[in-house]
Amino acid sequence: MEMGSTCRICGQQCCRKTKEFGKIALSEKDYVRIQLHIQGSFAKKVYSKNGWIYLMEIFEGKCVFLQEDGNCAINSFKPLDCKIYPLLFQYSGGEITFFVSSRCPFHHEVTSEFAEGAEREARDELEEWSEQNLKGYSEIVSPNG
Ligand code: SF4
Ligand code: SF4
Repeated sequence: MEMGSTCRICGQQCCRKTKEFGKIALSEKDYVRIQLHIQGSFAKKVYSKNGWIYLMEIFEGKCVFLQEDGNCAINSFKPLDCKIYPLLFQYSGGEITFFVSSRCPFHHEVTSEFAEGAEREARDELEEWSEQNLKGYSEIVSPNG
């Protein structure tokens, strides 16, 4: 979603084929930020063994915010998950480790520049995620990565 020209070639498959690509997660912070701009339902709260997270709703297999022209309707305030994909993370024992999702057809083209930049951005924002959101993401989203 953020790999520039590579994503344009791909045609936003991760937004378009959300059902096959897995889950789009929102922390409490993401949810509240989006809610400031959007009325109506767009995500559901789901619980894992040790935490919880919101998952973006999908319609006809696509993210509800994907527009006909391929643009994201909430681009300037989309969730962290969308900003860093195809990077995912796992939280365990108080540590966060990042990895590239093999579901992205261009995962082998992820540059170290992109990965390092995305990781930096994520680490800053993840400091504000609750322990329950970190655990919910790690138990629900990243295992399907
Ligand atoms: S699947 Fe990969 S290449 Fe395609 S839009 Fe998503 S991140 Fe970009
Ligand atoms: S919120 Fe935007 S970037 Fe994220 S999956 Fe939906 S359309 Fe794609």
